[in-house]
Amino acid sequence: MLEPRETEKEFDVGLRPRALADYIGQSAMKENLSIFIRAARKRQAPLDHVLLYGPPGLGKTTMANIIATEMGGSFQSTSGPAIERAGDLASILTNLSAFDVLFIDEIHRLPSVVEEVLYPAMEDFQLDIVIGQGPGARSVKIDLPPFTLVGATTRAGLLSTPLFDRFGVVHRLEFYTTNELVQILKRSAQLLNIGIDDDGAATIARRARGTPRVANRLLRRCRDFAEVVGEGFIDHKGALYALDSLGVDQLGLEESHRSLLNCIARKFSGGPVGLSTLSAALGEEKDSIEDVQEPYLIQQGLLERTPRGRKITPAGMVHIGLKDAVPYQPKLF
Ligand code: ADP
Repeated sequence: MLEPRETEKEFDVGLRPRALADYIGQSAMKENLSIFIRAARKRQAPLDHVLLYGPPGLGKTTMANIIATEMGGSFQSTSGPAIERAGDLASILTNLSAFDVLFIDEIHRLPSVVEEVLYPAMEDFQLDIVIGQGPGARSVKIDLPPFTLVGATTRAGLLSTPLFDRFGVVHRLEFYTTNELVQILKRSAQLLNIGIDDDGAATIARRARGTPRVANRLLRRCRDFAEVVGEGFIDHKGALYALDSLGVDQLGLEESHRSLLNCIARKFSGGPVGLSTLSAALGEEKDSIEDVQEPYLIQQGLLERTPRGRKITPAGMVHIGLKDAVPYQPKLF
């Protein structure tokens, strides 16, 4: 019989830690939240609204789920672009129970009419809605159960000030260290029932761009290679073979990242080049370039964002082989 194919999303959900103690890394955020959660529970009050921001795959949704579990509420999830009208949000809010977590992903994309409904809901647990139209229209106030809004965004800078100011707890998620990713990979390998040794985990971790979602995805691919080409066990050699075959280089860059760097270097003489031009030249969405690809390239010092556009750095040129690795040429006189 055929096994049903596991989708990337199901795979992600299956590996998600459920308790704060299993959430690896992000220690400052974890310590703070653990105190705030305990304090809220002691007061029998909901946790203050939380805004989590940072590149995709770093654990924002995972943390929102954990907050719901720790607060003893259920987890309701939606996203900014999915809530088109004020009424959509009203129906979500009126279906919440006390201590639930309402998770809004991509909260920077909430329409402003919807945002205005959110303000009194966040501040006073009240819904102000207008019923009817024209002269017969009247405003009604509805009490909401005390809930916690967890907003996630890749770009906190795009949030309006009134919305941003209504979050009591704001945390930026950082890229993970290799050690943290090794711990995540070992836990995931155990859940997937696949053998992996320390070197195998470190090899994958070093190429996972500091991102748990990428680490788990690479582990899944390495498992395929290990089961078919290898001995069903992931060691350094097997992981390296799989990663090389997948085109994931020593810095963890994939073909799309290298194309981006090559495009700036070759088509635009190294930059600066505007995001729209770059997006047209690569045939990639602007958001995907800005939110998914660039943060790690910038963190690694391979790309720069300047007021006039994107520029490849000397280290970026070295990485794609357009410059020698010794950039410093001493001048004699
Ligand atoms: P985001 O919401 O920031 O895009 P997710 O919370 O969906 O990221 O995380 C992606 C995957 O990475 C999760 O399914 C989970 O398996 C894993 N993950 C993220 N953060 C952690 C962590 N701190 N510890 C262990 N696994 C993690």
